[in-house]
Amino acid sequence: MEGKAPAEEIVARLKSEYPDSTTALDWKNPLELLVATILSAQTTDVRVNAVTPALFARYPTAADYAAADPAELEEDIRPTGFFRNKAKSLRGMARALVDDHGGEVPRTMEDLVALPGVGRKTANVVLGNAFGIDEGVVVDTHVRRLSNRLGFTTQSDPEKIERDLMQTVPRGDWTVFSHLLILHGRAICKARKPACEACVVNDLCPSAFRV
Ligand code: SF4
Repeated sequence: MEGKAPAEEIVARLKSEYPDSTTALDWKNPLELLVATILSAQTTDVRVNAVTPALFARYPTAADYAAADPAELEEDIRPTGFFRNKAKSLRGMARALVDDHGGEVPRTMEDLVALPGVGRKTANVVLGNAFGIDEGVVVDTHVRRLSNRLGFTTQSDPEKIERDLMQTVPRGDWTVFSHLLILHGRAICKARKPACEACVVNDLCPSAFRV
């Protein structure tokens, strides 16, 4: 640990602990990841993964979503909840891809957040995972909780947390960092009762045995 900042050491240890960290969503191309991420709002990855095989088979291109019958698309994604809004987002997003980007998913934050239904978090997921571009840090409920416990931030607003993390975590680790914290949050550093005695970073964590 000598010579390493705590953040780098924490990331290194979590990488050893979770060597296969990646997004829990199933996808094979940038469009599928973008669609799955839009569907993942306010629901679990498991529910999203349950509907996407049939969805991706039925709508393989952006043009297919853009031309989709609204009621049929709503039925296709209904189990993910908020299906009317999500169907509207999918159709609007796909229409913009067709009209402005030749049917392809764009590779910049600016272009992604201009798409209907796409915010910074979704754009970070797509850039980091589909294109390997570390443009920001995805802040979900686990990342928010663990970043505070580990002392990387004192903020509760996701955008402010993201800013703090971008200053603390090495840029090349921004994407994997989210995956690591989500996995560690699910396995060990749970919301109600973190298992500090089993945590590989408990000697570096200011909240160890205090939550
Ligand atoms: S030591 Fe405890 S509070 Fe800190 S990261 Fe580990 S489980 Fe969470």
